[in-house]
Amino acid sequence: MKDVVIIGGGASGLMAAIMVKSKVQDQANVTILERLEKVGKKILVTGNGRCNFTNKHVSENRYNNPSFVKPILKQFNVAKTLEFFNSIGLLYKADEEGRYYPLSENASSVLDVLRNEAKRLGVVERVNFDVSRIAKENDRFTIESKNRLIQEADYVVVATGGKAVPVHGSNGSGFTLLKKHKMKITDCFPGLTGVIVDEAQIKGLSGLRMKAKIYLYPKKTSKKDKKEALWSDEGEVQFKENGLSGIVIMQLQSQIARKFSPKGVKVSLDLIPYMTEEELVEHLEQRLAHIGNEEVENFLTGMFHKMLSRNILKQRCKIQLDGYTKDLTKKDLNKIASAIKDFDFDVKAFYDFDRAQVTIGGLDVKEVVQETLEARKVSRLYVCGEVLNVDGDCGGFNLQWAWSSGYVVGNAIAKKIIDNV
Ligand SMILES: Cc1cc2nc3c(=O)[nH]c(=O)nc-3n(C[C@H](O)[C@H](O)[C@H](O)COP(=O)(O)OP(=O)(O)OC[C@H]3O[C@@H](n4cnc5c(N)ncnc54)[C@H](O)[C@@H]3O)c2cc1C
Repeated sequence: MKDVVIIGGGASGLMAAIMVKSKVQDQANVTILERLEKVGKKILVTGNGRCNFTNKHVSENRYNNPSFVKPILKQFNVAKTLEFFNSIGLLYKADEEGRYYPLSENASSVLDVLRNEAKRLGVVERVNFDVSRIAKENDRFTIESKNRLIQEADYVVVATGGKAVPVHGSNGSGFTLLKKHKMKITDCFPGLTGVIVDEAQIKGLSGLRMKAKIYLYPKKTSKKDKKEALWSDEGEVQFKENGLSGIVIMQLQSQIARKFSPKGVKVSLDLIPYMTEEELVEHLEQRLAHIGNEEVENFLTGMFHKMLSRNILKQRCKIQLDGYTKDLTKKDLNKIASAIKDFDFDVKAFYDFDRAQVTIGGLDVKEVVQETLEARKVSRLYVCGEVLNVDGDCGGFNLQWAWSSGYVVGNAIAKKIIDNV
C-alpha cells in the first residue's frame, strides 16, 4: 500500500487526488493536507462567486508559456474536463463568450461535486495542516506542519497555488517549500488585477465605466502610432480612485507583468474607436456650429459622461470650463480630438496580491518533466496548478490549467503505483 500526499486542497490538488485515487483505488491512501480549516476556499470566490471553470476557446496561446502547457492541456482538454464534471454530477452552461459556469451559477456546486467525489473514492482531507517542511529519506517523504504534525508519503504533490489572495490560502509558502529543494522560483508579480495610474490624470473619474479600445505603448513613445502598440484590445474600463480596472485592464496588466515593467509603459484609451481623429475633428466642428454660444462645460454633452467631459476639457486640454464655446479655436478642437483618441495614463504600479486573480511567475517550468510534472531534482515529488510559472487569460483559463495539470500529475502517480516503480 502506497501513501500519496497532496499538499494544498485547491482546484489542482483536488483534481490530482481524485485522479490518482480513482485509478489506484485500494493500492494507495490518498491524503490532502490543507493549511486552512476547509479545502477549496478559493474556488468559492472564482468568477464572482459563479466559478467560470473553463472556456470553449482554451488553447495554449491563452497562457504565458504556450509550448509548456500545450501537451498538458492536450492530455486533459476542455471536452474531457466537461465530461469529467458531468460524470461527477455537475450541470453547466456556457455564455456567449464561451465561458463555462455551473448551471446553478454558484461556485459551491463545483467545490461540492469535487469534494463528494473525493470522499466517495476514499480521499482523506487533513485540514489546518500548514506544511512547512518536506523531507525525503530512503525514498520516503516526511511532511511536517508548522505546529509539528507529521504525515508520511511515498509520493508528494505540491499544489499550493501562488500568492494571489492569501486569505483564501495561497500565501506563497509552496515556493518556500520548493526552494528548500534547490528549485528555481522566478520573480513573482500579481496578475489579472488593475493598474495604479498617475493621480492627476484620473482625477474626477472614480466610479465611471466606459467601453474603449485600449493600447499599450512604451512610455517614451511621443506621437503614438497605433501600429506600434505593444498590445491592444477592446472592452469595458472601470475607473477607480487611483487606477483602472475591469476585465480588459486585467488582461493588459498581466501582459505588462509578464513582459514589461509597469513604469516603462503607458496605457492609452481610444474613447471613440469607430471614428478617425480627422472625422472626430469634423464632428467637433459641426457640434460647435450647432451649439452656438454655450458654456464650455457643456460642449461634449451627449458624447460622454459629465465626469469624463470635464477631465478631457480641463485636465487634458487645459480649457477653462467656465469659458464660452465661441472662444474655442481650431487648435482647441484638434487638442480635444487628440485627447479623446489618446486618453492616456502613466502606469505607476499594479494593485497587490490581495486584489490579484493569479500569480505571474512561480516554479520555473524547467524544474519539472513536462509529460508528468515530476520534479527533476526530487523524484516522486510532483507539482501542479498555479505554483508553476503558468498563468492564463481571464475567462476560465486558469482553472482549466489547474484541472489539466492536476489530472496529469494524478495519472502519472497512478501509473507508477500500478506499474510498481
Ligand atoms: C478572486 C479570484 C477569482 C478568480 N476567478 C477565476 C475564474 O472565474 N476562472 C478561472 O479560471 N480562474 C479564476 N481565478 C484563478 C483560479 O482560482 C486559480 O488559478 C486556481 O484556483 C489555482 O488553483 P491551484 O490549485 O493551483 O491553487 P489554489 O486554488 O490557490 O489552492 C491552493 C491550496 O493550497 C493550500 N496551501 C497553500 N500553502 C499550503 C501549505 N503550506 N500547506 C497546506 N496547504 C497549503 C491553500 O490554502 C489552497 O487551498 C480566480 C482567482 C481569484 C483570486
